Amino acid sequence: MRVYNFSAGPATMPLEVLERAQAELIDWRGSGMSVMEMSHRSKEFVTVAAQAEARLRALLAVPEEYAVLFLQGGATGQFAGVPLNLTAPGAAAAYVNTGSWSAKAIDEARKYVDVHVVADEKDSNYTTVPAEGSLEVPGDAAYLHLTLNETIGGVEFPYLPDAGEIPLVTDASSTMLSRPVDVSRFGVIYAGAQKNLGPSGLVVIIVRRDLMGRARPEVPAAMDWTAMAEADSMLNTPPTLAWYLVGLVLEWVEEQGGLTAMAERNRAKAELIYGTIDRSDFYSNPVQPAARSWMNVPFLVPDPALEKPFVAAAEAAGLSGLGGHRSVGGMRASIYNAMPIEGVQALVDFMTDFEKQNG
Ligand code: PMP
Repeated sequence: MRVYNFSAGPATMPLEVLERAQAELIDWRGSGMSVMEMSHRSKEFVTVAAQAEARLRALLAVPEEYAVLFLQGGATGQFAGVPLNLTAPGAAAAYVNTGSWSAKAIDEARKYVDVHVVADEKDSNYTTVPAEGSLEVPGDAAYLHLTLNETIGGVEFPYLPDAGEIPLVTDASSTMLSRPVDVSRFGVIYAGAQKNLGPSGLVVIIVRRDLMGRARPEVPAAMDWTAMAEADSMLNTPPTLAWYLVGLVLEWVEEQGGLTAMAERNRAKAELIYGTIDRSDFYSNPVQPAARSWMNVPFLVPDPALEKPFVAAAEAAGLSGLGGHRSVGGMRASIYNAMPIEGVQALVDFMTDFEKQNG
């Protein structure tokens, strides 16, 4: 029996995708072998890879002047990959700090560039995003970096900052494909796959082509966007199984009606759970309402001693992965694309019962 899995990533996958992968596992479409046993240079795998890219481009309406890369090293790899590919030694870059993942990106970037933190939401304990129009980006910044959705804090930008001519670079790991986004507003978008795109093992990078060719000579080949783009992301052996599974997930998103349909479903799921929290005196979520994440919903109970019993009782009821991140505690429900509304309904029913018994 499958549970409703609220894990933040690796995360729940669409059942249809798992069943399709299972059916194709031993003999992929008459090839006599599984995808993971094929040469990445084979005609078959090259087609799998190209179709995944084409589907991602179509879903996000990625303009022609952007390259799409499928690399390894996760979003964490790109915390270094961004400055190494976009700047020369001694350059400066602007960063917005909205929480844990922004802070990690900033720490890594400091190894390579002079970081200007142009906004830091510490006064609100990272429950806000900077007010629209408030960012002042120094002219010497090579780019402005922000984390579109903070997976731990549950804080999501409800707008896109305008940095003028300065390229906007974003970590979109936990929001990618959850709703339509105007790719043309960005210089670079990167996202680890293990939330809305598929299993772990891949990071997708969408780069405006005019930002290519700026990499430092010492950038590792596996992180060199230009070299990887020229080699169709296959300068070395890619994680072929993960790439194939991402392709199946993208096909599933298409079948669901694309990103407009995903956004409607995700909004409804988020409203259901935030509504339950806001109507109760028992549960709370500290995030400024306008900046509440549609994907990751952290919440607290009045007494921290009730957290472990909550998570254990939920687990017993088939609701898995609700413990908050180890750095912050509390609870967190990650409700990515593959979480059906029925799963969120089961969670809010459980929350209501738990409150009756413990409130
Ligand atoms: N950025 C964000 C917003 C994340 O949620 C995560 C992973 N949870 C990361 C970066 C790190 O990703 P990875 O583990 O793929 O390096």
